[in-house]
Amino acid sequence: MEKVLDPGSGLYRVFEEARAAGKIRHIGATSHQIDVARALVKSGRFETVMFPFNFITCEPADELLPLCREHDVGFIAMKPMAGGMLENAAVAFKYLFQFPDVALIPGIEKVEEIEEIVSLFAGPHEMTPGEIAEMQRLTAELGTRFCRRCDYCQPCTQGIPISMAMTFPSFVKRLPPDWYLENPRIPANMEKVASCSQCGECETRCPYHLPIIETIAENYKLFDEIRQQYRKQQSTA
Ligand code: SF4
Ligand code: SF4
Repeated sequence: MEKVLDPGSGLYRVFEEARAAGKIRHIGATSHQIDVARALVKSGRFETVMFPFNFITCEPADELLPLCREHDVGFIAMKPMAGGMLENAAVAFKYLFQFPDVALIPGIEKVEEIEEIVSLFAGPHEMTPGEIAEMQRLTAELGTRFCRRCDYCQPCTQGIPISMAMTFPSFVKRLPPDWYLENPRIPANMEKVASCSQCGECETRCPYHLPIIETIAENYKLFDEIRQQYRKQQSTA
């Protein structure tokens, strides 16, 4: 944020020029880190802030959203379906409909998903008792394992990108293996997980008390299995 807003070399100046020239109408910012998001809102330089918000990552409701309202900054909710971890769109969207001043931008893979989401916007917006029970079940099931990508667990003594390693299964769920295995950054980062010394420092810092050591080890195993399968397929193709 400091680099972007630097009066001499920051990109913010370019955005202002584009706005003055009528090429863009608004300047917004995105963050996955709550302290950065707070600073973006308080800077008074951005009209919107985009931040993860869903019924598992529900912390923005307590602080960031009220802060946005106080500073007249628009709140855009990214990952309303928790980056693909939530499959029940009705429950995910109806939770967020209780915040009518929040704009939702779900990622879409199929036409049917757009149709379902459009029908949810049409209403009714209130959850049925069955949907409330489903939300509670999913919160209990995922809440103890779901990484919010806040990076409060950092720095890792071995330089492991913990949030990426924690959320690796979301790549597996949403994307074909060639996408993430041929992308040099992801295998290089996952490979670092093998150097985890199990010092436990990250777990003492995670505000959600997630079992980081166990989860990244499981995800590394998943990564390694998929990579071996992929290599085998490539060699026989
Ligand atoms: S337990 Fe592993 S991931 Fe956590 S800080 Fe130590 S080395 Fe890093
Ligand atoms: S492991 Fe915990 S502290 Fe680290 S990014 Fe995920 S939720 Fe945040």
